Amino acid sequence: MTLNCWRCHRGSAADEPACAWCGVWLVALDPARVPAPVRSLLAPARRWGISDDVVRVDAVDDASPFELDGLVEAVDGVDVDQVDAWLCGPEGDAADPTNEYVAVSALMMAAELARLRLDPC
Ligand SMILES: [Zn+2]
Repeated sequence: MTLNCWRCHRGSAADEPACAWCGVWLVALDPARVPAPVRSLLAPARRWGISDDVVRVDAVDDASPFELDGLVEAVDGVDVDQVDAWLCGPEGDAADPTNEYVAVSALMMAAELARLRLDPC
């Protein structure tokens, strides 16, 4: 049983939480599992919170400046201290972190890289 990716349309095993090809999340990310200040990040995290470092860097490198702007703006729209407090809190020590935790931490890395790509120093 395979599931077609909403982004690249290629098939992944139906029990995989993320696309085997492009890394986007295939499962829904549950707002009830993150603190309120983090909730607005779940939509961009589904797209950019790619857990595999290589796939994430490729996704950012392949993105248009418009997409990179959207990614950076999504992260700029939240209180990063509150996001960091959650990422560095008890959930960060969990042996089996939630999909939401993995996605949002990867999103923050993707946004940092997007910032560098938009404005190289
Ligand atoms: Zn895909």
